[in-house]
Amino acid sequence: MRILIVSDIHANLVALETVLKDANKFDRVWCLGDVVGYGPQPNACIERLRAFDLLCIAGNHDWAVLDKLDLEEFNPDARRAAIWTRNQLTPANRDWLHALPERIPTQAEKFTLVHGSPRYPIWEYVLTPAVARINFDFFDTLLCLVGHTHVPVLYRFHRDEQTATAELLPENFSTVLGPERMMINPGSVGQPRDGDPRAAYALLDLDTLTLTHRRVAYDIAATQADMEQAKLPTRLIQRLSYGW
Ligand SMILES: [Zn+2]
Repeated sequence: MRILIVSDIHANLVALETVLKDANKFDRVWCLGDVVGYGPQPNACIERLRAFDLLCIAGNHDWAVLDKLDLEEFNPDARRAAIWTRNQLTPANRDWLHALPERIPTQAEKFTLVHGSPRYPIWEYVLTPAVARINFDFFDTLLCLVGHTHVPVLYRFHRDEQTATAELLPENFSTVLGPERMMINPGSVGQPRDGDPRAAYALLDLDTLTLTHRRVAYDIAATQADMEQAKLPTRLIQRLSYGW
């Protein structure tokens, strides 16, 4: 069974379509949250995902557009985008976002899926080995998939030393997961922040536990034109060009 792992699509339909095409053949999709927020196509992104055999969890931006989170916690650009998104969503898509769980343990207890961290699924950023180390105590499975930082990375837990180390994932990085416990972030489809503007995602062969990280160039200008038409904040439009 081949799983497409995506995160932080952020309503960027052009990026999502490019990833779906690049991934080619897969049986299921696992999505690590922030389907909406920032980008110009929230309804289309939700509907595209829902057509697949899908596991999806909630991100902070998904909650923000529902008023499940205080918008004061967001910077002004993110807040404006959240309010814009709220006004675009169809009732059916709003209900779908509402029903998303905060975490999913899945597949014979091997994987935990969360948006931010196992400790604080909606909000915490796992940006350092120290924070990763703490979070290894907050899930029971061998492996945990996270999103939220928009940076592709693998944290490895060393049981003897009780420490965690980080490896940034280069393009086409491929590894067999385990036997150590690991926390993996596939990066962001719709708004990468590691200085590489190309869409990021991962493919997982569930039978061999082989994970491959991929990057794919998409038509950034097309998404930016849609954002301009929607009058979304300039800074959010520009950042897509730089991948930050
Ligand atoms: Zn995000």
